[in-house]
Amino acid sequence: MPLAKTSAAKTAAGKTQSRVKPPTKAESVAKPKVEKTKIAKGKYDPLAPQRVTDILNRLDQRYPNVRCALHHNSAWELLVATILSAQCTDVRVNMVTPLLFQKYPTPEAFAALKPEQLEPDIRSTGFFRNKSKSLVGAAKGVVEEFGGQVPDDMDKLLSLPGVARKTANVVLGSWFGKAVGVVVDTHVHRISRRLELTKAEDPKNIEQDLMKVIPQAKWIDFSHQIIHHGRALCIARRPKCADCPLENICHAADKTWSTVEIHKTAKP
Ligand code: SF4
Repeated sequence: MPLAKTSAAKTAAGKTQSRVKPPTKAESVAKPKVEKTKIAKGKYDPLAPQRVTDILNRLDQRYPNVRCALHHNSAWELLVATILSAQCTDVRVNMVTPLLFQKYPTPEAFAALKPEQLEPDIRSTGFFRNKSKSLVGAAKGVVEEFGGQVPDDMDKLLSLPGVARKTANVVLGSWFGKAVGVVVDTHVHRISRRLELTKAEDPKNIEQDLMKVIPQAKWIDFSHQIIHHGRALCIARRPKCADCPLENICHAADKTWSTVEIHKTAKP
């Protein structure tokens, strides 16, 4: 933000004081320096392959080698951690899971529990009653239907209690390295809309839109990078646009800083 100019002035006593020069009429209405967007009015296409590639390249530069923030040593541990991460921070989940896996090291150990027995161990992650039911149900499914092995298949994962596409995509992408879909969590939901990669409201349609515009080879990295971006800069309230590597190609209506003409049709 341009700083107000200051100048020195002499007081009646002859002392020099610093004072803020009152802005001229033109300065008082001045906004941050705006550079006209190169895209001609009416021709702007937020989904243009060139723009999407630009976004992906900048994310690669800013967030190279990003990985899933949930600590895990197996597909089962990642499945459990992802179910626990609903409405909870990864940091909190990472505090809970070491003791949990020490106490119940296998899907079989979880499957032998009643949900109430699990509740005290996961209480701090919130929604612990539902999560206990999901974990015990998923463990029973893994043991009874898949021989104790977490399946590497979307439909099979979705057959497990408490497992929706987001959880299945996390496990398939981060453990099995399979790009079957795009993880849509709260950060991907918000930022994909800010970047106009989708106008959809619900995760299922957002994922479908992202799968159409992002090359499949980037689906796994894109989710990780956007999740990091959402934590570091593109936060829900007052995003740190002045520090954002995507700033001059982002036209989100709720930007906090802009060097480009805001695209009027952008919706947050
Ligand atoms: S410019 Fe602002 S709103 Fe746009 S992606 Fe960056 S932080 Fe988010």
